[in-house]
Amino acid sequence: MALRKIITSENPILRQKAKKVHHFDPSLQKLIEDMFETMHAANGVGLAAPQIAQSIRLFVAEYEDHKVAIFNPEIVKAEGEALGTEGCLSIPGYAGDNIRRATKILVKGLDLRGKPIRIPAEDWFARVLQHEIDHLDGILFIDRLDRPEDLRDVTAEEEEEKAISIE
Ligand code: ZN
Repeated sequence: MALRKIITSENPILRQKAKKVHHFDPSLQKLIEDMFETMHAANGVGLAAPQIAQSIRLFVAEYEDHKVAIFNPEIVKAEGEALGTEGCLSIPGYAGDNIRRATKILVKGLDLRGKPIRIPAEDWFARVLQHEIDHLDGILFIDRLDRPEDLRDVTAEEEEEKAISIE
């Protein structure tokens, strides 16, 4: 396994629409392992491939007993709405408040072998998945702020307690 460099928001790769994956060869296993390792090292709960400069539709996420790596993900059902705080490994040091997300979603996509998978998610984990899918469309959390004052510095407590999700 190897750590990959996480790119930050001034890099235009983060603004591209990432490409679908059609060939499921063994090199993807290594890429996924590297992404989990990179995410853990950065104390994140999610990481999308464009964040390591790979413009393909893949993200990984891990929270408690949920651990996912999914290609070509699509939200096929979304219910509810909640405001919450998010951070992003590609926008270090900042957090956004009052970001609107669905509270219950169903995501469909493909696993490492190209087989269809479904991930139901609620609340906090649903927020993580929506944040990651946004990355595949070149969208960052700062685009979802209704008011500029909702962008602020991450507090020391939040950083220490991992009180907000950094993806
Ligand atoms: Zn992010």
